[in-house]
Amino acid sequence: MTRRSKPNADRPIHRSPGRSRDHRVVYVAVEGEITEVDYLAYVNKELIDDGQITLHVIARANGLKPMETVTKVLDDPDPGDELWVMFDRDEHTGIPQAFSSGRKNDVDVAFSHPSFDLWLLLHFQAFSGSQNGSSKIVHEKLRQYPGYETFGKQGDDKSVKGTRVDSIRGKERTAARNARKLIKDCAFDGCSEAGGHADGCDPLRRDPSTDVWRLLAALKIIDD
Ligand SMILES: [Zn+2]
Repeated sequence: MTRRSKPNADRPIHRSPGRSRDHRVVYVAVEGEITEVDYLAYVNKELIDDGQITLHVIARANGLKPMETVTKVLDDPDPGDELWVMFDRDEHTGIPQAFSSGRKNDVDVAFSHPSFDLWLLLHFQAFSGSQNGSSKIVHEKLRQYPGYETFGKQGDDKSVKGTRVDSIRGKERTAARNARKLIKDCAFDGCSEAGGHADGCDPLRRDPSTDVWRLLAALKIIDD
């Protein structure tokens, strides 16, 4: 069975009244099954203008590997759907392949190195220094902020709800600014704060970095 059933695929599309013709539909397939899903639920509920954009999140219990996020998001898209995937460096293999498949299939990648959790931290502070795929230091720093005291510790499910959402609420621009500052440290010629990482920049060497801000820009939550 496909992810999206299309009973009227051969007929003209009937839009609901008040829905603009240029209403955008954005799919994001995410690697993690808790942290990213909770975060995007917050984005969906509080940050998006849902008169303009419908955001669908695709996740799976026990998570998806980088390449699987691309495969999942490409499962039966409708013309005009905007497709994104979100995955982390962690200790994964197959990241260059996932990027390459994304590029070929018009899927945007919001990649984080070492992990999405860096994006959460950047709501509170700037960060720098290679992490080699480990989120240990990111978590230690994140635990200094309200709601995150046990984040990443044994028994903590790394959910982003309640106080954790209250803590990051309204700090999207700060997070984006801090994420863009990291691009300045990228060794590849052609990457810039203004333009982001260049096409030829090896994602594995973007340590540390997170491109989640690009998704927020695409969703019109922050400026490009
Ligand atoms: Zn770069």
